[in-house]
Amino acid sequence: MSIRLIVFDPSVRNEEGKLTVLLNPEIIEKDGEAIMKEGCLSVPGLEAEIKRAENIKVTGLDKNGNAVNIDATGFLATVIQHEIDHLDGILLLDRIGFIKRDIFKRRLMKQLKEAAREQAVK
Ligand SMILES: [Zn+2]
Repeated sequence: MSIRLIVFDPSVRNEEGKLTVLLNPEIIEKDGEAIMKEGCLSVPGLEAEIKRAENIKVTGLDKNGNAVNIDATGFLATVIQHEIDHLDGILLLDRIGFIKRDIFKRRLMKQLKEAAREQAVK
């Protein structure tokens, strides 16, 4: 059996909530639209405004195997959708559209070249 698991902690942004582990999360309802600036540890240096649902209802299991329902809105809703994207193999890069992706790639290549040049000088 495979387990899908996300961990999130809205308190890092001074939002209400605590470190939460959610197993096999599933979004059962979505409502509204919200655009927030997101970054990702998997794509260092990229920040982009991403449009997602503003309110979501999520079901899953907590770390003790108990069924939970979470109503999330705003920042927490964004975080949960971002993390579930990871489970589905979707990164911010896949959400930003090809023009921004291209700009980001070029900037990254430039940085890598500069870093390589600096290494060569040392
Ligand atoms: Zn991420």
